Amino acid sequence: MSKLSVRDLSLSGKRVLLRVDFNVPTEEKDGHTRITDDTRMKESLPTINHLRAAGAKVIIMAHFGRPKGAVNLKYTLRPVALHLSHLIEAPVGFSPECAGKVPAEMIEQMHNGDVLLLENVRFHAEEEANEVSFAKELAALGDIYVNDAFGAAHRAHASTAGIAHHVSQAAMGLLMEKELKYLQGELKDPARPFVVILGGSKVSDKIGVIKALMEKANTFLIGGAMAYTFFRALGISTGKSRVEADKVDLALEILALAKAKGVKFLLPVDNLETQEISATAQPRSTGLLSSAKGISEDWEAVDIGPETVALYRQEIAGAKTVLWNGPVGIFELAPFASGTRSIAEALAASSAVTIIGGGDSVTAVKQFGLGDKVSFCSTGGGASLELIEGKALPGVAALSQKA
Ligand code: ADP
Ligand code: MG
Repeated sequence: MSKLSVRDLSLSGKRVLLRVDFNVPTEEKDGHTRITDDTRMKESLPTINHLRAAGAKVIIMAHFGRPKGAVNLKYTLRPVALHLSHLIEAPVGFSPECAGKVPAEMIEQMHNGDVLLLENVRFHAEEEANEVSFAKELAALGDIYVNDAFGAAHRAHASTAGIAHHVSQAAMGLLMEKELKYLQGELKDPARPFVVILGGSKVSDKIGVIKALMEKANTFLIGGAMAYTFFRALGISTGKSRVEADKVDLALEILALAKAKGVKFLLPVDNLETQEISATAQPRSTGLLSSAKGISEDWEAVDIGPETVALYRQEIAGAKTVLWNGPVGIFELAPFASGTRSIAEALAASSAVTIIGGGDSVTAVKQFGLGDKVSFCSTGGGASLELIEGKALPGVAALSQKA
């Protein structure tokens, strides 16, 4: 069942088409494009370095922004090529076209170990439409395909999936391999107790994950805005907190499912509530909640409270595997960040396998400086959720099987 890895390939002298996720945040300053966070680029360096060291000609494909299938130089990858050359301390060529004669001629001039970045594949509408002719054109530029773009693996595009069918070998890169090792391998038969922390803004975003993990988890710890839809379902007043009124029945269904399966499903026992969403707000604790005493009228719950933190910390301390998706409060604002910070600290202190999936939760953990104190931070928001839900990712499914 396992997929071919870049480590399994003989690479010397081969033209390797490497798909990466270089969709980095940028800002314009004095007419220059500056990359404000190059984490995604750094995550692919092990694969790029591996290919170079093995003597491959490294031809990199990536998308950038949403040019909607047309050439738009606002979304050119040229500044990314320059930045990559600093990161690998070697020249990086740039092809202003991603397919056809222009890159083909540049590739002919490449030596083993050279690196060439192709222009944004999304300048062609055929990319997102996953058109066979375009996938073939991309494939014609190389011998082997390596996919390291985990963050785009849940999309069936020409450069993430289609291309794999038109090369002799299609393998996962080292980042892709690591993502699958944690989000698929470690979670297939997790060491128990397996504790899942779920937060974030909406229950509706996480239903698939909750249902899939209900089969495996011993304990769920719920936080974030999604907790208040469960409160509503239980008849606990929610004040002005964010509630998905149309998901109340679903919340009840989930609670019943957890009960039937003997899964511990914990909701916050206290919260921080505020009347003002701002960086200078002074939230107050609700104290212990009950169906008689919920979130105050006209107040909004923005974080889990200290009693909940203590309760959740205890569960985390006893776990062997912890998966966390979704911040437990509005962590972007300092007065509402303490719950999320405490959870991050509990994971950092734990000896369990600790896995963070989901864009905002990873941002939070890194913001607290705890990114390298957990076992793994996923680079893919949407892709990580789909993988945890048990869905096949087109960008992975298309890769060759290991012989
Ligand atoms: P992830 O990207 O980790 O999957 P989500 O995208 O589901 O997480 O949710 C993240 C967002 O949820 C954050 O922007 C955070 O501010 C918000 N959030 C967390 N708790 C609350 C709350 N109590 N009320 C409103 N928004 C919340
Ligand atoms: Mg998010």
